[in-house]
Amino acid sequence: MRAFRTVRQSDLPEPEELNWRLAAMCRLVSPALFFHPTNERGPKRQKRIHEAKKICSQCPVQRPCRDYALAVREPFGIWGGMSEEDRDRILGRGRGRAEDTTERSA
Ligand code: SF4
Repeated sequence: MRAFRTVRQSDLPEPEELNWRLAAMCRLVSPALFFHPTNERGPKRQKRIHEAKKICSQCPVQRPCRDYALAVREPFGIWGGMSEEDRDRILGRGRGRAEDTTERSA
C-alpha cells in the first residue's frame, strides 16, 4: 500500500512552465510504455521500464520533466527517466517493493 501526500496548490507549476511537454518524446509512443498495467510484475515490468527509460534518455526535456514529477510528487509512471521506485527513493517515500528498478538514464 502506498502512502500519498497531499500536494499543495503552491507546489504546482504555472501552466506556462509546462510548455516543455510539447517537446516530450513520449508523445510519440504509447502511454502504455510509461504507465504500468494493473499487477504488472517481474521481467515484463523491468523490460517495459527499461524501454521507457531509454526513450527518456534521448528526450530533450528530461530535466524539466524530472523536476515536475518530483515537485508534484507524481505517484505513477515513468517521468524524466525515473520510475515510481526511483522517485520514492529520492522523495523518501516508503514503498518497499521487491523489484528494484535502479537504473539512471540521466
Ligand atoms: S523525459 Fe521521458 S517521460 Fe519526460 S517528457 Fe521526456 S520522454 Fe516523456
